[in-house]
Amino acid sequence: MEINIDKNSGFCFGVLNAITVAEEQLKMHGSLFCLGEIVHNAKEVDRLRQMGLIIINHEDLKTLRNARVLIRAHGEPPQTYEIARKNHIEIIDASCPVVLKLQNRIKKSYTEMEEKDGQLIIFGKAGHAEVEGLVGQAEGKAIVIGNDFSGLDTIDFTKPITLYSQTTQNKEEYQQLTKMIKDRLSKCNCTEKETEGFTSYNTICGQVSNRGPHLADFARQHDVVIFVSGRESSNGKYLYSICKEHNPRTWFVSGWDELKKEWFTDAEKTGICGATSTPLWLMEEVAEKIREL
Ligand code: SF4
Repeated sequence: MEINIDKNSGFCFGVLNAITVAEEQLKMHGSLFCLGEIVHNAKEVDRLRQMGLIIINHEDLKTLRNARVLIRAHGEPPQTYEIARKNHIEIIDASCPVVLKLQNRIKKSYTEMEEKDGQLIIFGKAGHAEVEGLVGQAEGKAIVIGNDFSGLDTIDFTKPITLYSQTTQNKEEYQQLTKMIKDRLSKCNCTEKETEGFTSYNTICGQVSNRGPHLADFARQHDVVIFVSGRESSNGKYLYSICKEHNPRTWFVSGWDELKKEWFTDAEKTGICGATSTPLWLMEEVAEKIREL
């Protein structure tokens, strides 16, 4: 059986940068605190733990003093920097530049929305680290709408609306949400001036959205597709759904130990791909185990 690993899968530059920074720090100092899991991949986190990385949460951060703490690619809200300053914590900032740029845009839009008595909406997963960082730019006042769109009813359609997206969201669902907002605006008794107050910015990262069409082709070109990703990864769920749509014999695994021999019956070509948080070594390990099966 032919086994191919997708050349475009694996770490995006934001995650790669955070891991490179962590490795450099660990080589210099032997240990390093990291606020939250550095990447949504348990196996990669374990590898870095063995090198000395210590994962902490926001409660731990409040009790730390005179330490070095890495901020991962997802970024953090302003409060985190404030706590670090008070506690004499040195921040090693590995926030992805794409996320930082989005944080700045949201901060600016929030000020504009405040002046107009408008609302700032973020399409994303409530509680996700990146979303927390974005909401923090709006002093916690942004409305977060998730993939079930249930938060739609909390929007006041008589007031101006500015919409952004978490960088790793599903492009089709973002378009669906903008359409739903426009539909509601057209049905409410708003004046023409009010309905013009809707601005939407598709801020889904190209590292995620550009992989979709490529993965659709990759999935079609193989009899079986093994999608390797941590179960917590938002873009992992999205990219897996694209592969599954284009090849029903697509299977999601977080490691080689979840592989099942029967998936490969009569398969001549197997493709292995993954999320922006999937390390290449993990996909290679999966390929090796498929060869053994
Ligand atoms: S997906 Fe894009 S925004 Fe998110 S960490 Fe990777 S490069 Fe940065």
